[in-house]
Amino acid sequence: MNIHEYQGKDILRKYGVNVPNGYVAYTVDEAVEAAKKLGSDVTVVKAQIHAGGRGKAGGVKIAKNLNDVRTYANEILGKTLVTHQTGPEGKEVKRLLIEEGCDIKKEYYVGVVLDRATSRVVMMASEEGGTEIEEVAAATPEKIFKEVIDPVVGLSGYQARRLAFNINIPDELIGKAVKFMTSLYNAFVDKDCSIAEINPLVTTGDGEVLALDSKLNFDDNALFRQKDVVDLRDLDEEDEKEIEASKYDLSYIPLDGNIGCMVNGAGLAMSTMDIIKHYGGDPANFLDVGGGATAEKVTAAFKIILSDAHVKGIFVNIFGGIMKCDVIAEGVVEATKQVGLEIPLVVRLEGTNVSKGKQILEESGLNITSANSMADGAEKIVSMVK
Ligand code: ADP
Ligand code: MG
Repeated sequence: MNIHEYQGKDILRKYGVNVPNGYVAYTVDEAVEAAKKLGSDVTVVKAQIHAGGRGKAGGVKIAKNLNDVRTYANEILGKTLVTHQTGPEGKEVKRLLIEEGCDIKKEYYVGVVLDRATSRVVMMASEEGGTEIEEVAAATPEKIFKEVIDPVVGLSGYQARRLAFNINIPDELIGKAVKFMTSLYNAFVDKDCSIAEINPLVTTGDGEVLALDSKLNFDDNALFRQKDVVDLRDLDEEDEKEIEASKYDLSYIPLDGNIGCMVNGAGLAMSTMDIIKHYGGDPANFLDVGGGATAEKVTAAFKIILSDAHVKGIFVNIFGGIMKCDVIAEGVVEATKQVGLEIPLVVRLEGTNVSKGKQILEESGLNITSANSMADGAEKIVSMVK
């Protein structure tokens, strides 16, 4: 799960990470009020969307007075911001962060991530702040420093100091940088983050070490114990189909192709995508309805696939183990009756109650092509879509 920059900064502040003062604003008037409350010489008006690269796209503006704040707030609110992370359709800005402007001396990068190769949390830092870390990694990988963190000990003082020295934080600010990194690590662990990225971390003219941006992602599997984080969820920022899928506890990931897939089990879902590719097609989604899906769940899954305008055909590939083929068949029939079906549908069923399942599909009177194997089904749907 993802949250906004201002929400991330609120969390980080509680853990002792130094961040500028700021307020969220939903309207132009609120933005001006916020700037009055801040009373700083320079105010920054920042678009709040779940994507980075806002600066380059015109979503971060420096205001010298209240008039500027009004002008920029007016300009940014309601605008569809297209950044390299939003995709070409962009994201509409509905909230702003009105923040104290600070006198930047130098921008750095600090990020905390889970490294799956070592199964450890890793803190990364670079003196190439403000730019995309992926670009730094590609062009000058030697400028990224990493510390692998022992989960029992946590981030040690010497590790934080080594990072601070490596990225050339001025000597007199090393202590502040160490406190910053330690607090950031504590927030990451305590809040079950999967990513905590500060880009840029800055040193300022008056000798501060501050987070100017914050990107926090959370591990969905830990949200049950992070209720206050769940409250920060902004459904406006999420794909409607994904919200619907999460209501029914379905694992759903939209993709770029045009063949909708409904499968049970993540392994079978992945091999289904592979075999569609093998026959020259492109899957429109990954969808795992799970082992013990009910007819209701299958109906919901089917509706989600059908609501995707890119989908030109559907391939249902189910192995009935715990899940019975007749339940799947009922769900498919129910969903197609509710929403209608104008595109080809290929169904491959195997396992428990398979003949009962096939019978339900045949007697439904719906235009369903049945397949005898996974390969047969994939080949059929690919040719029908073409
Ligand atoms: P994004 O990563 O989405 O482009 P950032 O929050 O990193 O957005 O802001 C982009 C740039 O704007 C920063 O690298 C920094 O130079 C400047 N900036 C952001 N916030 C402030 C601030 N409070 N004061 C001064 N400059 C800022
Ligand atoms: Mg940034």
